[in-house]
Amino acid sequence: MKKEEKFEKTMEEIISWSKRRGFVYQGSEIYGGLGGAFDFGPLGVELLNNIKSFWWKKVVQDRPDYYGLDSAMFKHPKVWEASGHTMGFSDPVAECKNCNTRVRVDKELNKIGIEADEKMSEENLNKLFKEAAGKIKCGKCGKGDFTDVRKFNLLIRSNYGDFTSKNSDPVFLPGEACQGIYLNFKNVVDSFHPKIPFGIAQIGKAFRNEISPRNFLFRCREFEQADTQYFIKPDENKEKYEDIKRERWQWYADLGLSEENLRWKQHENLVFYASDAWDIEYNFPTYGFDEIEGIHDRTDYDLAQHTKFSGVDLSYGENGEKFIPWVLETSMGVGRVFLAMISEAYSKEEVKGETRIVMKFPKKIAPVKVAILPLSKKEELTKPAMEIFDSLKDKFVCQYDETQSIGRRYRRQDEIGTPLCVTVDFDTPEDKAVTVRDRDSMEQERVKIDELEVYLQKKLG
Ligand code: ATP
Repeated sequence: MKKEEKFEKTMEEIISWSKRRGFVYQGSEIYGGLGGAFDFGPLGVELLNNIKSFWWKKVVQDRPDYYGLDSAMFKHPKVWEASGHTMGFSDPVAECKNCNTRVRVDKELNKIGIEADEKMSEENLNKLFKEAAGKIKCGKCGKGDFTDVRKFNLLIRSNYGDFTSKNSDPVFLPGEACQGIYLNFKNVVDSFHPKIPFGIAQIGKAFRNEISPRNFLFRCREFEQADTQYFIKPDENKEKYEDIKRERWQWYADLGLSEENLRWKQHENLVFYASDAWDIEYNFPTYGFDEIEGIHDRTDYDLAQHTKFSGVDLSYGENGEKFIPWVLETSMGVGRVFLAMISEAYSKEEVKGETRIVMKFPKKIAPVKVAILPLSKKEELTKPAMEIFDSLKDKFVCQYDETQSIGRRYRRQDEIGTPLCVTVDFDTPEDKAVTVRDRDSMEQERVKIDELEVYLQKKLG
């Protein structure tokens, strides 16, 4: 009856689907858009929340050794000095001499197979960039003549609490979400007296003045991160780091990303204090493999820096012993995982000579779980359909839809990935039963209204 089409997924198609179906819109679109900012639409926000809830449940609520946090976005200016962001948080840029378009040098070098990253010195990057002359072309005008490489700081300033025009000591927007965890390390220890090792987790917004925001949700100037810091005894990092790497990989598999689309990448260049760093990458349509999460073995750098800059002792005491805990950090880009999820779910099949687009979201992540569809707009069907909606809405996220033909409504629900459709037809008032259609098999079953909730619960798992 249905045929799995062998088709190439393209990011262009997925982006157009995401707008058409109310998942993601360009930020400030009616004003021509704002580079690097995106808005999540009515279904996008449901999917986003489901991903974040799944993370929170597995990482915080299911783990006795983890504590959750939601720290303020704005932080004391010294935080970013202590963390090294005011000095070292920069990307290398060169400008096309013909049309002034800026390119991110390390990423351009990567594209032609040269290992480079933002942590390298300006001098080294300039050397590699010069050696690659002629091989890198401007994405806009196609010419290959660029200025020298310079590094630009990515922090975005605000005028928080500043009523002068000078703003000499600005409060920055957070360059990463996790600093609040270090700032509250002592508070959590004082309130809960956790035994080391333990972790603190936070989901929060981050802002970076990315030189060329691109690839849809992949590289934005405003985005969200889900971060953990696991505090351990000095030198007890190796085994725990491997455990955390395993847990994070498993989380993605449990979320529903196929493992063949995931891979590990170890950092070649480490910042001076780091002991190890790995990324989990996802194989995006069109873009290929790229980072969705970084897992970093950071020694005692962070708490030692905040101790030094704040003057507050952030060491941990245990059995008469005092030490600055070491940190194992995980940092997931929520938007990038959202993009991976919609990429993974996007499918096309041929059904009776027609193509159906179906989002094969895992049931737990699907934005809408059950659609209630009366076959006609006549009250004899809409009334029982609304009653069913009311009886189910506290249990599952439901959608009620009575517009257009039933075939079209099924297609619409397939396109947003709704696992189950409940159809109320002209037999319903008589037999007190409805038809339940499964998104993936498209098979239909007659179910008594009295037994519907239990039936749906079983199907949704
Ligand atoms: P990249 O090398 O791609 O710039 P990064 O190594 O700077 O990323 P981290 O600072 O480790 O990234 O941030 C942790 C996570 O935050 C990344 O794995 C990614 O998922 C997400 N992230 C980082 N920058 C962006 C961005 N500009 N837009 C969307 N997500 C981002």
